Amino acid sequence: MKFSILNRKTKIHSLATTKFDLLIIGGGITGAGIALDAVTRGMSVALIEMQDFAAGTSSRSTKLVHGGLRYLEHLELGLVREVGREREIVHNNAAHIVIPEKMILPIIEDGNLGEFTTSLALYVYDFLAGVKKSEQKKMLTKEETVKIIPLIDSPILKAGALYYEYKTDDSRLTIEVLKKAVEHGAECINYVKAESFIYNKKDKIKGVNVKAVLNGAEFEIYAKNIVNATGPWVDGLRKKDNSLKGKRIHHTKGIHIVFDKKRLPINHAIYFDTGDKRMVFAIPRQDIIYVGTTDTDYYDNLENPTITKADVQYLIDAVNKIAPTVNLELKDVKSAWSGLRPLIHEEGKDPSELSRKDEIFHSKTGLISIAGGKLTGYRIMAKDVVKIVAKRLFEKENREFLKCQTKNMRLSGGEFPFYPDMPNLINSADQKYDEVKQTGITVNDFKRLFYRYGTNIDKVSEKAFDYYSEIRDTKLSWLKAELYYCVNFESVATLSDFFIRRTGMIFFYIDEISEILKPAADILAEFLNWDEKTKQKNIKELNIELKRSVVFD
Ligand SMILES: Cc1cc2nc3c(=O)[nH]c(=O)nc-3n(C[C@H](O)[C@H](O)[C@H](O)COP(=O)(O)OP(=O)(O)OC[C@H]3O[C@@H](n4cnc5c(N)ncnc54)[C@H](O)[C@@H]3O)c2cc1C
Repeated sequence: MKFSILNRKTKIHSLATTKFDLLIIGGGITGAGIALDAVTRGMSVALIEMQDFAAGTSSRSTKLVHGGLRYLEHLELGLVREVGREREIVHNNAAHIVIPEKMILPIIEDGNLGEFTTSLALYVYDFLAGVKKSEQKKMLTKEETVKIIPLIDSPILKAGALYYEYKTDDSRLTIEVLKKAVEHGAECINYVKAESFIYNKKDKIKGVNVKAVLNGAEFEIYAKNIVNATGPWVDGLRKKDNSLKGKRIHHTKGIHIVFDKKRLPINHAIYFDTGDKRMVFAIPRQDIIYVGTTDTDYYDNLENPTITKADVQYLIDAVNKIAPTVNLELKDVKSAWSGLRPLIHEEGKDPSELSRKDEIFHSKTGLISIAGGKLTGYRIMAKDVVKIVAKRLFEKENREFLKCQTKNMRLSGGEFPFYPDMPNLINSADQKYDEVKQTGITVNDFKRLFYRYGTNIDKVSEKAFDYYSEIRDTKLSWLKAELYYCVNFESVATLSDFFIRRTGMIFFYIDEISEILKPAADILAEFLNWDEKTKQKNIKELNIELKRSVVFD
């Protein structure tokens, strides 16, 4: 249980008393990927995150591990090739949370892409991304397109195309990467903030002054190499290091809105024109559809980027245009989230024109900073950063490290003893369900947990059995078992960690939260030894998050 929130004292002691080969600042997907790559090559690794893991952009994306069709529009062919191939790797390594999804691309009059260009673009995409035959594009007539998604029937619809993307849960992907890194010996801790840097007499970076956010404790962490993987915050730390020169981060904001499937009844994901030369996704997930994203310049608070009514209306208008009979309104929005892209600034370019490519900055002090990029390409970004660190350690200490080990490394939860395609996964979920159905859990509720925790489901099930034999209440037993797992194996420290980043309930099952909020608070209070004041503070903070996801500026 090395990744338990209950081990914080031991972890902090270890962080404060070890000199690491590598310290990573930032526990989003970029930092997590670097931690896993480095520790599995043989380095001693620490990672600190000032909020919860994945609380930055890595829980606020479109939640696709994708081949980057969009990059084709900008002729970023290298990027299409790289992320396209990467998505297959990420799928194989974390099949429980990276699931293939059929995507329909409607071709409309005066749209961004005509029939010929769509066909050509998807052909090039299949080729560059090395898409497997069963998932290669198929062009559709108008009738075929309407048959799949009747709602988009309109005079402007000309034809369609079918291709595949992979949907994921970004924060769970981050957690599964971190859990694997921890399994291999990395020290990863949330709620510890890097406040300032420590330098030697030659002005080389040698450590970080940090603050444990939950109790205010301050200490120092020393490391031979320090990587700043703080996404939208990357320039803030470069400034503290006095190395904010040359290229800078340009923040653009992207929001997503959620509708009930009954209100927007589509069963397939769509990638469609907005009418202003952009394209957005509508993605079904269980009983909801989420739509996004926007792309606008952003200069405000980085922790909680605001959602304006204009942002929401923009997406509503786009849906109403492609599906003219639905007439969605602001009041139909059930939930929403907003994230910041840490892009590299290019003079005179609009947000949507800026490259999504990652960039590594080297400071004279030795600080390495990385920003930009995609969730999908996290493994490659990590490989590039760790290569630099390995070279430095070799030059200074003549130590050699293994080559990158992560290509065929199953992440935590993805360690299935079979080839993880959908039929095998469905089969495995059914078998596991048979083992637990006597606790009274419904097949749907169980499958939700299966695709959340993958091969770790047995740890949750085992606990659910124990609790069920004590309290004989199905819902409460499973909730308690899930919270037990999240506290002991996923470092959950607050109610918001659970409802936002471990389960995604605030996005996908917001209506269910009110029913379990009180029992969840009571259970966490028991596990984490909270007094009444701390419990109420947690409830209040979650209520603020709930409000944020439905009330717009
Ligand atoms: C709207 C939107 C949609 C997107 N959709 C997709 C998609 O569908 N597919 C895809 O592949 N990519 C997508 N992306 C891109 C992807 O989400 C990001 O590239 C990725 O999440 C960035 O991860 P990161 O770890 O670099 O940054 P973050 O996830 O923001 O992590 C940085 C972390 O550093 C922490 N931190 C900051 N300062 C400190 C400090 N002083 N001390 C300790 N910790 C600190 C922060 O709290 C934060 O958690 C999307 C991005 C956006 C905004």
